[in-house]
Formats: sequence, structure tokens, C-alpha cells
Amino acid sequence: MIYLDYAATTPVDKRVSERIHQVLTTEFANPSSVYQAGKHQKHQLNQARNQLKQLLNAVDYDAYFTSGATESNNWAILSQAMKARSLNLGNHIVATAVEHPSVNSVLAYLETQGFEVTYLAPKKERFSAEQFIQASRKETIGWVAMWVNNELGTRLPIEAIGAAAREYVHWFHVDAVQALGYSMVDLSTIAVTSLSGSGHKFYAPKGIGFLLYQPWNPALTLSPLLHGGGQESGLRSGTENVPYILGMVHALELTKESDWQHSQDLSDYLFERLNALKIPYQRNGKDTVPYIISLYFSDLLASQLLIQLDLAGIAVSAGSACSAGSLEVSHVLKAYYPNEEARHHQTIRISLGRDTTKADINALVETINELQERKQTLWHSQQKQL
Ligand code: PMP
Repeated sequence: MIYLDYAATTPVDKRVSERIHQVLTTEFANPSSVYQAGKHQKHQLNQARNQLKQLLNAVDYDAYFTSGATESNNWAILSQAMKARSLNLGNHIVATAVEHPSVNSVLAYLETQGFEVTYLAPKKERFSAEQFIQASRKETIGWVAMWVNNELGTRLPIEAIGAAAREYVHWFHVDAVQALGYSMVDLSTIAVTSLSGSGHKFYAPKGIGFLLYQPWNPALTLSPLLHGGGQESGLRSGTENVPYILGMVHALELTKESDWQHSQDLSDYLFERLNALKIPYQRNGKDTVPYIISLYFSDLLASQLLIQLDLAGIAVSAGSACSAGSLEVSHVLKAYYPNEEARHHQTIRISLGRDTTKADINALVETINELQERKQTLWHSQQKQL
């Protein structure tokens, strides 16, 4: 398989799986056990927690391990919204209209619970802190924005939005899932109250993630979603998945700035090849990261392209893989390009990773080109018959 869908998930790095295997087989004690082996695991867990904070320059934050970003997003948003309302601070939230379902479904749920949510659409393909400020009023409690959009690869101005959030609202949640792994996330330079991440987007396994939390208002403490044995300072019960936690933190440690340059080189190469073959396309989004590339082909349907690429053994996505195998029109494309129906149906997402090669890009471009040529031949023969 030629895998060009790293934004959906990444393979587990061999060094990470070796670390996990070691913990699974030889250091398997429960970190809550009071004997030495248990205490050793507790120590490893706390070390991993500190290392995570250091890697993200978030030493003043609390770090909690979760089952992934879906849980972290649910937990942070529900908790802060409910707590702020119980303190009579308000019931209005401002969020972008292009969040992942693990965020926008939580917001939709909050709307059923009496909260009001304003969803911001991009202006000229960009979001700004100004939009958040203008949508806010006295009863606005919090803002929500993702760092990098998972479908288009657009980078949101989190630094500016965070700085404004500190002035205007009580909390600011950031879904950083698609930004982690490229030394981009540095919490010493941005203002957020909560930030979520997911291991399987940076070469760790699925089913492990984290939430960083630091309230601006000390009364806005987190409330647990899961009640039980009191793990994670009583806020996230359930025996800790130490093998995956240690694996995930090791995976984050292994991420390199050069991964960004690698994607940049391959992305440049992709555009060079598409241009050389005169394949008509447009890249969706502005201020994009190099590793997520959303392409609109003016002559090709995404559904046809996906089938053709799949037959050639090439894995790419139409919208977000997380909307579970459906080819429903993406809410992200709709928000960015409200009046361009063709674009909604003719866009694919290519996402690059550490193991992507120029040969992978060549195979992709050749398959797209074949389909393009076949369509043109068919079109010419139909014209002749008319
Ligand atoms: N947010 C974004 C931006 C994502 O891309 C994803 C995964 N596709 C998630 C949240 C959910 O993460 P997880 O799979 O760990 O629940």
C-alpha cells in the first residue's frame, strides 16, 4: 500500500512499539499497587507526565492521560462550560465552524443543555482573533479553536486568538491534534486553558491521548467524566494505560523538526509534478501546513478518484477519515467555500508523513493523470458522436 493518509492515523514507530512491548511484558505492574513493582510504574508514569509537559513547554500545566483526543475534547469543553455556567459567568461559547466532530458534537450537545454557541465561518479562507472578539458579549464564557485543520491543513492564528481570549473570556480550548509532532506546539508562547492531543497522529498507538489544563480562573476546576478508583488525581478514573502512555511520550520525544522539512520537500515535489502534467487543480485553504494537502480537481469527482487510487493501492482521504467511511459533504469545505458545490465533491486530502517518498508521490500523480486522460479521451469521443 502507498499510504498518503497520515492525518487519519500514523503507523507506530518501531522504537515506540519496542518500548511498549517492554512495558507490556516486563513492567506490567499496576501503578496503584503498593509493592515495589507498582511503585516503579507510578514513578515511570509521573516521569512521563513531566516529560510531556517539558516537551510542550507546559511545565505550569496539569497533564492528564486519556483514551485520545475525543475524550480530551469532550472533557475540557464540557467541564469548563458547565463550571462557568454554575458560577453564573454566562452560557455563550464562540467556536469555529470547522472543528472536528469530537468538538462540534460536544458543542451541539451543550446547545441542547441551554448553552448558546456562535460558529464562526472563515473570512476569505482565514480566521482571526477579531472575529472571536466581535462575536463575544457579556455572557460569553469561552472560545474554542483548533490549531491545524485536519481536512485542509489550514493553520489558525492560535497565538492571536489566545492573547485575545485571555482578555475577553474565562477559558480557551485548543484541539492541537494535527499540530503535534512538528515542534510547533509551545505552550510558553500561547495562552490557552486546555489543549488536547492524540498519540496516533504522531507515531504512537490509537486509544491514547492527553489533556493539558491550566485555568485562568482558579474556580474553573475540571470535573471528572469518569468516576471510579481516583486515578489521575481523582479526575480520570481507570487503571492507567502505562505501556501506551510511555510509548506516546517517547513518540513525542522522537518527533523532529526535520519531519516538517521532509513534508515541505515532498509537497513542493507534488505540485511540481501536477504542474508538469498540466493537471487542473487548486489547493484548498490558505496558511497551510506542508503535511496536509487538500486538492480540488476541477475535472474529477473525489469518489471516482478515491476508487481509482484505491485500485492502484494508494490510500488517501476525501473529507475527514473520522466521519467514518462516509462520503458526506464535508462541513469544513462547506464553511470555507459555501457557494462552490463542485469543490465539495471534487476534493481529496493527501497527507504526508515520515515514511513518504518521492516514489509515492509519483505513483499518486500518475494515477491521477491516467484518470484525467481517460476522462478527456471519453469527452473527445462523445464530442465526435454529437
Ligand atoms: N481532533 C482532530 C483535529 C482530529 O483529527 C482527530 C482524529 N481524526 C481527533 C480530534 C480525534 O482524536 P482521537 O482519534 O484520538 O479520538
